[in-house]
This record gives sequence, structure tokens and C-alpha cells, in this order.
Amino acid sequence: MDAMDRDPSATPRALATEAVHAGREDLATLGVHAPPLDLSTTYPSYDARAEAARIDEFATTGARLDGPPVYARLDNPTVARFEEALARLEGTEAAVAFASGMAAFTAVLLARASQGLRHVVAVRPLYGCSDHLLEAGLLGTEVTWTDPAGIADAIRPDTGLVMVESPANPTLAEADIRALAHSCGSVPLLVDNTFATPVLQRPVEQGARIVLHSATKYLGGHGDVMGGIVACDEEFARTLRQVRFATGGVLHPLAGYLLLRGLSTLPVRVRAASNSAAELVRRLATDPRIARVHYPRIGGAMIAFEVYGDPHDVIAGVRLITPAVSLGSVDTLIQHPASISHRIVAEGDRRSAGVSDRLLRMSVGLEDVEDLWRDLTQALSAPPVAPPREAATASEGSGAVLRPVAR
Ligand SMILES: *Cc1c(COP(=O)(O)O)cnc(C)c1O
Repeated sequence: MDAMDRDPSATPRALATEAVHAGREDLATLGVHAPPLDLSTTYPSYDARAEAARIDEFATTGARLDGPPVYARLDNPTVARFEEALARLEGTEAAVAFASGMAAFTAVLLARASQGLRHVVAVRPLYGCSDHLLEAGLLGTEVTWTDPAGIADAIRPDTGLVMVESPANPTLAEADIRALAHSCGSVPLLVDNTFATPVLQRPVEQGARIVLHSATKYLGGHGDVMGGIVACDEEFARTLRQVRFATGGVLHPLAGYLLLRGLSTLPVRVRAASNSAAELVRRLATDPRIARVHYPRIGGAMIAFEVYGDPHDVIAGVRLITPAVSLGSVDTLIQHPASISHRIVAEGDRRSAGVSDRLLRMSVGLEDVEDLWRDLTQALSAPPVAPPREAATASEGSGAVLRPVAR
């Protein structure tokens, strides 16, 4: 692991360079080109006294152990490469990986709660399940929802975290992270950076202390690996490692391998998909079938738009674009947040957060932009698809809101 230690005197490298080299500095010394994939669940040692000392060390500090991990719930060398690389891309001291984005968020909440700080201040909209985890208080936390201007007033002595997504899922609403961090005072600000990725935005440079990613999305980038990661200072990382060890939400080494590989093309993928997204936004903005287009100032490959017609007809009408939840893959995905990604958020909360029933969210991939536009424009003109009667009643509740309206 020594070769992976950072050399503080080294010239800082550009993000595109870090994306293909961070976490891999020792490969030439090891005599390999691809990173080794270590699938061990346990690690042999003939010296139980030394192992006891290492376990004590981890239990008291949460620092990564020198040498092999003892047991795979404690650490894994392949996953550690991904952690090292993502920390470098986000510009943080450390990063700790988990089995999914939600496992990562859970660990953050448990880490703060274990320090007696059970109160969270959060700004809507958030990813549907993050909203649900806070709102339902499943982990014994309590949430105060506020807008950015209300953060300072919402903070209490037991507030352990302020949470925001920017650009937010699914409306792409942006927060002024610097101003927000200022309002937080000494309470750490967590920014979910899943949509922007470090290619477009590095929240710690603007004062955030904790950066969350659903690695399932852009970091993996191919729709075939689930993971989550928290980038933060080494002190908080130590608590997160202890929580991960005790609760078990570890990232599988194969997922770590795939995520590290995904990082190497992250800058190229995000920039190429963002160019196509910006072009689609230009076309949608003047399209008479579209009521409103949402696209963040920092750009990116996510777009959202509200249709005059029935959004379900658009979902049913795509042929090249895949109608599916999730995002950040090489192929383009579209989904209806009110039905899928934000279904778990109560209707009133969803609407007040700006998630209209006519909103569609699209994750633009790497296809040719003309092919994407051809598919999208035919789907927007698709004839209405009559849903089966019972299904419509069961899934829509107050179905009337989705009828097409006259322009
Ligand atoms: C998907 C997503 C999550 C949750 O991540 P999983 O990997 O699905 O657990 C959290 N935040 C945002 C913004 C997401 O899009």
C-alpha cells in the first residue's frame, strides 16, 4: 500500500489524469497493468498477538490498517483503490465505500447519531429514498425540512448534519453551496454530488464537509454495478469505517474493481453526455409540446421537463431510450418521478418540492444526439396509450391531474 500514499510535494494533476491514475500508482511496481481483484473474505496470520493489536488499533481509531485487512468486513485492497481514487477526484483526505448510495447515507446518519447528534436539517427535493429515510425516521433521526434561507434558524444543539442535493433529483434545482455552507456554521454540510460528479462540481472547494455519491450512477457509468461512497476528512472517515465494520454495508470487491474502472472514463463520459443533454435542452425549450424545461447552470447529463400531454404516453412511446429508473449509464434512460423515483415521498411533499406530476427526468447517455432527438420527438407525439382500467385506478389515486390539457 505504501506506493498509494500521497506525496505532498507532487505537482497536482488534472482531473482527467487523476481519473485514470489515482489508486493505481503501485501497479507498475507490482508488475501488473490492471488492478488486482482481491476476493478474500479472510486473511491468514500465524501471529494472533499481532492481529489482536491491529484489531484494537482499528476499534479505537478507525484508521486503515497497515498490511492485510484481517477480515473483509474491515477493509479490502481493491475497494481501497476506488476509495483512494474518488477521494482524489473530490479533493478530500479520504473516502469510504459502501454497498449502495443508501448504505452510504445510512452510515453517515448512524455516525452522527452515535455522537449524540440525531437531528438533521435538510433541503427538498432529495432523492426519493433519502427523503423517505429522513422523513420516516427509520434510524431514529429527526428531520427539519427547510429552504436554504432557513438553515441557520433550523439548526439546534443536537443537529449533526445539514443535507442538500445540488443539482437535486429530480428537478435539477441548484443550491449555492458556498452560501449554504456559511449558514451551517460548525455543523457539517453534506452535499449529494451524484448528479454533478466531481467533473462538474467539487463541493468541498465550496465549503461542504461531506460529499455523498450513489456510485451506482455516473461513477460506475454502465448500469451494472451498485455502490455508494462518502468523501470526507480522515477524522469522519474513521467513524464511517467503524460504522461499516459494525453494520456490514460493505462494497463487494468486484464492484470496487468495476467502479475504479468506471472512474477512468468518468470525465469523458460526463462531458460527452452533457453536450448532448445541452443540445436536447435547446430543442425542448422551443418545443410547443413542452411546458417547462429544467437544466442546471453547471450543465450535466441530466435533464428534466414538464409536458402538456400525459407523461405516461411519453414513457410508453420511447423505443431507443430506455424507460427505467436510475441514471448515469452509457445509454439514455427516462422515467416519471411521481410514479417511480419519488413515489415513496408523500404526494403533498413531492408537489411542494416542485416535483410536478407532469415532470419527466431523463439521463442522457452516449448515443448520437440526432438518434436521441428522433426517438424523443416521436415519443412526445405518441398517441395516448389507454392503461388497463384497474391498474390506472390503483396506481394514480387522483388520476385526473394527468389528463392532457389544452394549450
Ligand atoms: C440513486 C441515488 C441515491 C441512492 O443510491 P443507491 O445506490 O440507489 O442506493 C442517492 N442519491 C441520489 C441523488 C441518487 O440518484
